[in-house]
Amino acid sequence: MCVFCKIVNKEIPAYILYEDEAVLGFLDISQVTVGHTLVIPKKHVANIYELTEEESIPLFKAIPKIATALKKAFNPIGLNMINNNDRPLQSVFHFHVHLIPRYENDGMYIGLDKAPGTIDHDHFLSLKDKVTQQLK
Ligand SMILES: [Zn+2]
Repeated sequence: MCVFCKIVNKEIPAYILYEDEAVLGFLDISQVTVGHTLVIPKKHVANIYELTEEESIPLFKAIPKIATALKKAFNPIGLNMINNNDRPLQSVFHFHVHLIPRYENDGMYIGLDKAPGTIDHDHFLSLKDKVTQQLK
């Protein structure tokens, strides 16, 4: 049984912030920033690809509630919602969303600030086609 399933089953203690029939939210023991929280489905699913629509509904209903509580509790300047699937960053293979309150000079860097280059229309169209074909 994975470590998060053990937390769900109360076999391992955790600082649980939120719980309903399908979802658990608890403090990440690493506390990357103050209030760093994990939100998980109680049912073991490894990653985003295994999460069903039905399972995603209670999970993504709980996330704004918990994020708002973190904002009120810690008054961060912002909050990142991060989910890692497979390599390079997923370490526990039970789907989880990180809620990471952000503070001035908190030292955390997320590399999503690459400036757009020249837009190659054909390249973007081929990217779009590859994905939309999979959604049919
Ligand atoms: Zn699990």
